Amino acid sequence: MTPRPRLLFATTNKGKLRELRELVGDAVEVVSLADLPPVPEPVEDAETFEGNAVKKARAYADATGLPALADDSGLCVDALGGRPGVHSARYAPGDDRARYEKLLSELAGVPDEKRTASFQCALALVKPGGEARVEVGRCEGRIGQAPSGSHGFGYDPVFILPDKQGRTMAELTPEEKSQVSHRGAAFRKMKPHLLGL
Ligand code: IMP
Repeated sequence: MTPRPRLLFATTNKGKLRELRELVGDAVEVVSLADLPPVPEPVEDAETFEGNAVKKARAYADATGLPALADDSGLCVDALGGRPGVHSARYAPGDDRARYEKLLSELAGVPDEKRTASFQCALALVKPGGEARVEVGRCEGRIGQAPSGSHGFGYDPVFILPDKQGRTMAELTPEEKSQVSHRGAAFRKMKPHLLGL
């Protein structure tokens, strides 16, 4: 039997790891950063999701000699000129709640029809010494007036999905979320390249 190809997914997020393992099944052995000796963490200082994902994947492929997959994602709010964007994780100090509350206060007085936003995700796959392959995913929605729901993480409680009867991302089950989410879309586009490793 030929050995399965090994892929490093440059994440410590258990939810993302589970999602990727479900996507590729038994065809690829997926390891995460937690399974390898510590590698210096690259700084995510690019201006785009694609730039950060490629930078991370390349750094980990070079450091480990394994094909590496990395993602970068965030929330882009139209009324804020695309902010917080690549700065979504650092938009406000404290926890996820502090960040979505800052967002709600920045949008105070903005009417529903002008609260459009998108979650965006870039996934990059880099083989040691090779070119990067990038796939992107997007999920369109609107920022609510108040949080609702307890699933997910980050800005999920304030992100309303018009295609899901106006429920927030935090009101969806993990399975429903992966069908509509930016990350689910990018993962599905990347799948053939992962199966061809
Ligand atoms: P990262 O790409 O996992 O580092 O995510 C960057 C930041 O974007 C997170 O810390 C969240 O604030 C936000 N974000 C990315 N994806 C999601 C999501 O699916 N739901 C809610 N927030 C998200």
